[in-house]
Amino acid sequence: MSSPRTAVPPEHVDVLIVGAGISGIGAACSLQREHPSKSYAILEARGATGGTWDLFRYPGIRSDSDLHTFGYAFKPWTSEKSIAGADAILAYLRETAAEHGIDRKIRLHHKVHGAAWSSAEARWVLDVERTDTGERMQLTCRWLFCASGYYRYDQGFTPRFEGTERFQGRVIHPQHWPEGFDYSDKRVVVIGSGATAVTLVPAMVDEAAHVTMLQRTPSYILPTPSEDWLAKFLRMVLPKGWAHALMRRKNIAVQRYLWRFCQRYPRAARRLIRFLNARELPKGYPVDEHFNPPYAPWAQRLCVVPDADLFKAISSGRASMVTGHIDTFTEKGLRLKSGRELEADIIVTATGLNILALGGIALTVDGAPVHLPDTVAFKGLMLSGVPNFSLAVGYTNASWTLKIGLLCEHFCRLLSHMDAHGYTRCSPELSDPAMPTRPLLDFDAGYVQRSLDTLPRQGDQAPWRMSMDYLEDIRMLREDPVEDPNLRFSSHVQQAAASASSVRAAG
Ligand SMILES: Cc1cc2nc3c(=O)[nH]c(=O)nc-3n(C[C@H](O)[C@H](O)[C@H](O)COP(=O)(O)OP(=O)(O)OC[C@H]3O[C@@H](n4cnc5c(N)ncnc54)[C@H](O)[C@@H]3O)c2cc1C
Repeated sequence: MSSPRTAVPPEHVDVLIVGAGISGIGAACSLQREHPSKSYAILEARGATGGTWDLFRYPGIRSDSDLHTFGYAFKPWTSEKSIAGADAILAYLRETAAEHGIDRKIRLHHKVHGAAWSSAEARWVLDVERTDTGERMQLTCRWLFCASGYYRYDQGFTPRFEGTERFQGRVIHPQHWPEGFDYSDKRVVVIGSGATAVTLVPAMVDEAAHVTMLQRTPSYILPTPSEDWLAKFLRMVLPKGWAHALMRRKNIAVQRYLWRFCQRYPRAARRLIRFLNARELPKGYPVDEHFNPPYAPWAQRLCVVPDADLFKAISSGRASMVTGHIDTFTEKGLRLKSGRELEADIIVTATGLNILALGGIALTVDGAPVHLPDTVAFKGLMLSGVPNFSLAVGYTNASWTLKIGLLCEHFCRLLSHMDAHGYTRCSPELSDPAMPTRPLLDFDAGYVQRSLDTLPRQGDQAPWRMSMDYLEDIRMLREDPVEDPNLRFSSHVQQAAASASSVRAAG
């Protein structure tokens, strides 16, 4: 780490959480509830809390998970819409942080660049930049909890397209949407087939002259009601907390059965989704051309469209779908490999994210750099060979946060176990280095595939496998003991004694 040492010792806390998004705020709530005597801080690189839900500002920005499962178990979601816009999600997150006094623990404009673990001192030294002043500082902690999300904040992903410089109109990436951008009466082409593209198209049709969604490959798109009548009914007859808990249970079961059904009966799932799509589209619409992906349902994240809004936009004639490969941008728009020309005033590149593991934090353990692809995730919570460190990676086949909640529970139990035994260090160690491994995010999506060689890995069996099953995780993270043959605990008094005796032996 290059920053100079200052005379004043750096501030020390028991736990440092990186990131004030939904995961970091949730982790702080768990920690504060289970370990009220531990000191902690949340370091947030940006000037605002909320992570994803504050960063993205494109028209229509919303979740595609229901908020009963995407929100916290301990904070009822009471809004009418169970699939909600970013504003409502942000308000919910900030209200949670304020209610629990967590907002006072968040340090905005604090970007963590590096973290160095010292076994001798059993602590992390963090290299932190004040993003508002450029000042560099250090902080130390006993435990580092990385809730930094999974993608680069400064730059969305845009593939290289031929001829972009020739285009006379405006090109915008949804991650960098200009504030108050006026697209009224403009012809818009949205390039992409994922959740962002299917959100943008119906959100823009009211003002734009026409919106075309241009996709290379179709995705599975599932129409779903934005309001849940059962949630409304339960809120009328039960206290808010009970209604939330019941809705959460119901939606966890629905997500789980939907995913399992797709895994077990991919052909039936494909037929069912096609039927639901065709039902929403005009008679004779080429459903198979635009809504029939070449892969099985859930091989990539399934896109949800609330109240079938995308299909309504297409049926109204104000939006259209085109499936084809881009040959080049032209002065007036785009030319496809088929020779077809699409004219546009604005082209939106909804082409994805750049994956970034651990918010770009460079880790070292006793001076040795940690090369993430050499590490294997333990219970999805820690990394092999990296002491007192946890990460918050959620589900990709259900609400991300369902897993984060369980990880936080396990993390708090781990801290209790260490306190009870006087341990100050805990590190997962791979007993079988020959165990077959695969990438931590085992998902077909292009943005995941592009970055596989930068990510930690997972093993082929528990506790090294990254489970994507909530019930399996309940067993492993909530019910099973924290002690595990693969987990090494020590106190740094023991550690110092061991080092001294090995020095004596060497001498
Ligand atoms: C548009 C969009 C819609 C989505 N919709 C859903 C959905 O409906 N359901 C679902 O399950 N998932 C969804 N996701 C995935 C979504 O990102 C996660 O579910 C969730 O919001 C992630 O929360 P998080 O707190 O883990 O990370 P983030 O929201 O990414 O927050 C991470 C925070 O860490 C900070 N940070 C990062 N690196 C550093 C550093 N080095 N130092 C200090 N701070 C740092 C960031 O500034 C940020 O504030 C969506 C993603 C996008 C982009």
